[in-house]
Amino acid sequence: MGTGMLALPEIEVLRRNLEKEVVGRRVKGAEIRPGSNAMKMIPRHGRRKEFQELLEGAKIQRADRMGTRLVLELDNLHALVFSLGSTARLLKTSASDELEAHTHVVISFTIGGQLRLLDVKRTGEVFVARQDELKALPGMADFALDPLESSLTWHHFSQMLEQKDRPMKALLLDGTFITGLGDVYSDEILFGAGLRHDHPSGGLSSQDVRRLYRTLTEILFDALKARGTSTPESEFVDLYGQAGTYQLELKVFGRNGESCRRCRHEILREKIEDVWAYFCPHCQA
Ligand SMILES: [Zn+2]
Repeated sequence: MGTGMLALPEIEVLRRNLEKEVVGRRVKGAEIRPGSNAMKMIPRHGRRKEFQELLEGAKIQRADRMGTRLVLELDNLHALVFSLGSTARLLKTSASDELEAHTHVVISFTIGGQLRLLDVKRTGEVFVARQDELKALPGMADFALDPLESSLTWHHFSQMLEQKDRPMKALLLDGTFITGLGDVYSDEILFGAGLRHDHPSGGLSSQDVRRLYRTLTEILFDALKARGTSTPESEFVDLYGQAGTYQLELKVFGRNGESCRRCRHEILREKIEDVWAYFCPHCQA
C-alpha cells in the first residue's frame, strides 16, 4: 500500500524541470554505468546496447507524465520513461560534474549537459518503448484518476467513493483509484477534509465529498507550488538538486506528539497495514 513512493507533486515538479531543461535537446550518448546494479535499472532491456541505440541521435520533443511515470517523447516514435520508485533521483548536471555514488544512467546531449539517474536502493526503472505501445504496458495507465490532470466532476468522484467503500486512507493510497497520492498527502488531505483514516468511503455526505475533493486538489497544487515535499524518508530533490518546502506546511504527517495547529489537541498516529496514519482525533471524525 503506502510505500514511500514519490507522489504526484514531486513527479510534476520534475516534469516541469525536464520541460525547461531537456526538451529540444538531442541525445549524444546514453551510458548505463558498469556493473550489475546499473543493469537492474533497465530490466526491460536485455542489453545496454539496445537501450543506447534507441536513444542516440534522438531529439526530445515533449516532457509528459503518465500518472507517476515521467515520459520524454522522442522524435523517433519512441519515448524514454522514468519510474522513480521511492529512491531514484534525476539530476541535470554538466558533463564535467563529478559522478555521484549510485549514478546508474547518464544521458549526454549534443549541446552539452547531462541527465543523470541515481538510485541508492534501485527502486526505480528506466526504459525506452514505442509511444503507441505505452498505454498497454503494465503499470502505465492502470489508475482511474489523476487529480492534476483530470476534469473529473465531484459527482463522479462521489460515485467512485461509494462503489469502493473502503477505509479512507487505504482508498487514497490505492494507486488504481487515484494515482500517486502517497503517505504524506493522503494524511494531509484527510485532515483538511476532517475525515479519519478509518472512515468508510461509502456513505459520505455530499458536503463531505465536496470538501474532500476540494481539499485534495488544493493540497496537491499547494505542494506543487512549494516544489514538493522533502521528508527524511523521501529526501526528494528536483532536477537541480534542490529540496522542496511543503514539509514546512504539513499539518499532521510526522507530527505525532505535537499539538494540532487548529485545535491544540495532540496529533496521534496509528499503524494501518504497513503504514502510519497521522491524524488529529479532535478535528477528524
Ligand atoms: Zn485538531
